[in-house]
Amino acid sequence: MIDSCGRNIDYLRLSVTDLCNYRCRYCMPEEGVCKRTHSEILSLEELEAIARAAVALGITKIRLTGGEPLVRRGIVELCRRLRRIPELQELCLTTNGSLLPDLAAPLREAGVDRLNISLDTLRPERFTQMTCRGELGQVLKGLAAAEEAGFTNLKLNTVLIGGFNDDEISDFVRLTQVHPWEVRFIELMPMGPCAQWDRSCFLPNTTVLRHCPELRPLPARGVARRYRIPGARGTVGLISPLSHEFCADCRRIRVTADGKLKGCLHSREEIDLRGLHGWQLQNAIRLGIAQKPQRHHLTERRSDTPRNMNQIGG
Ligand code: SAM
Ligand code: SF4
Repeated sequence: MIDSCGRNIDYLRLSVTDLCNYRCRYCMPEEGVCKRTHSEILSLEELEAIARAAVALGITKIRLTGGEPLVRRGIVELCRRLRRIPELQELCLTTNGSLLPDLAAPLREAGVDRLNISLDTLRPERFTQMTCRGELGQVLKGLAAAEEAGFTNLKLNTVLIGGFNDDEISDFVRLTQVHPWEVRFIELMPMGPCAQWDRSCFLPNTTVLRHCPELRPLPARGVARRYRIPGARGTVGLISPLSHEFCADCRRIRVTADGKLKGCLHSREEIDLRGLHGWQLQNAIRLGIAQKPQRHHLTERRSDTPRNMNQIGG
């Protein structure tokens, strides 16, 4: 479907839970979230119905997210059901990787095409400090399990945070010399717990190019500007919502785990999809696409959403 700004909306990010086994300091309050009752969260049947309605309107790619999507009971079954939607071209999932040692193979078998794995530091102590509870070794095992299960084109999501991991930029870029992965640096967005952090934490992605002048540009893909070190097996992606606004190329809509359609990550506007079926559900999605905001206001350091990132899905 084409929105009011002429953008072809073909990508749905579907959140399956706002719960998480980590507490990344920029994303989620340490005390966690007020646990919603089972009935406040979309059931597997509702998630499938929303996915089917969206695909009928032209969505060709779905990414499952959260919170941590792999803590959601029935996630493998959900993937299996979504994979059966004939017109769906790509089923992807973004995860912190911690549960992949057990779930990578079942997810692959259920038909998930691609994984993005979030990893902000390669140093074990820092990792535990940032996630408040995670172990780096577990995520590295998850990465290995994903490769063993047959996932290719793995992407690593690394949120660049001044004073936290900017001294690891070269280490992350070096990973692409030995692994066929895309390491994607994402600019930290001021929302939720990090909204009030010091300005020095918010680094432009040009910092990566300054640290690694050997990176050579490649044709852009989606919202990422891409680079490669000559001869490297993998690539480096820069996702720069603040310094290089990409709203004009945004093809996404989002549905939160409590069933709200969001045309923009940073907007307050939401359309409730709960309780809607058939043509009513399709009309609500159509409306959400038609009303997709032209742009966000992050460049003015303002996200208008009252939600934390774990309550949207990134
Ligand atoms: N738990 C999964 C994970 O961590 O990959 C999926 C959900 S998480 C909300 C999705 C992505 O959003 C992660 O890569 C995370 O690092 C990123 N993220 C969370 N808060 C962010 C922020 N304030 N700015 C930029 N990226 C953020
Ligand atoms: Fe959990 Fe992902 Fe947020 Fe970290 S970034 S707290 S892993 S939802």
